[in-house]
Amino acid sequence: MGGHSRQFEDLGGDLLIKLRLLDLRAAALCRLAPALAEGFEELVHQARNLASALRTQNCRSRTVPSPMPEITRREFLKLGAAGTAGMALVPLANPLGFDVAAAKKRALDLRISGAKEVHSICPYCAVGCALIAYTKEANGKTQLLQIEGDPDSPVNEGRLCPKGASAMQLATSVRRVEAPMYRAPGSTSWEKKDWDFVLDKIAQNIKASRDNTFVAQDANGNVVNRTEGIAFAGGAAFSSEEGYFATKLMRGLGLIHLEQQARV
Ligand code: SF4
Repeated sequence: MGGHSRQFEDLGGDLLIKLRLLDLRAAALCRLAPALAEGFEELVHQARNLASALRTQNCRSRTVPSPMPEITRREFLKLGAAGTAGMALVPLANPLGFDVAAAKKRALDLRISGAKEVHSICPYCAVGCALIAYTKEANGKTQLLQIEGDPDSPVNEGRLCPKGASAMQLATSVRRVEAPMYRAPGSTSWEKKDWDFVLDKIAQNIKASRDNTFVAQDANGNVVNRTEGIAFAGGAAFSSEEGYFATKLMRGLGLIHLEQQARV
């Protein structure tokens, strides 16, 4: 399937459109014959599971060899025809070798079942991949269950690089540093400090560096009022507003060495 993933995606899209049309027709049919409703809903549910499994499988097939058998356009269209035949309540055939019942049970057993979805952005780099964090309330605390790529994002379409895929460890790793750490000049060990201490320390060091390296005039007598002893680098986790504010602050101090990892 490797080189045909784009055509395969198109076919998957065709199937989903057909399912939506079937949904509309079924709604009208079931109003006329309520007894048909349950059987038809089950059929559409199974077909949706299958379409979803196909899309996921196609996504994986771009990076790893697929264990799924080859499928031709003709076979795929047969599957669409099977869905149409479902209007007569014929059980969905299993032409691809998937056990849709097992897939359905597995979906019901997911530990994120019933969890709250929170949309976020990976903090690691300027690509800005979209994430979904799954949380649950337990014993009055919010428990983070899982973080994964957002399949609806046009940026990453559900994918994450290894750094983004480990984003959950930012919150749950036992090695996470939860307080500022300070190493005094000449010391070989780190001490845990509170935020007041480190913010005061940063302010004192910035003032000392600025005072010591401030340039009021250049060699030609031009007024420049700049600070050459401090540089600033903004991270990708900055929002646009934070980046704007940081730039204003640094320029106000006279910094000329500024860099920002921009999101585009
Ligand atoms: S998942 Fe990877 S590529 Fe995407 S924003 Fe995070 S670090 Fe960057």
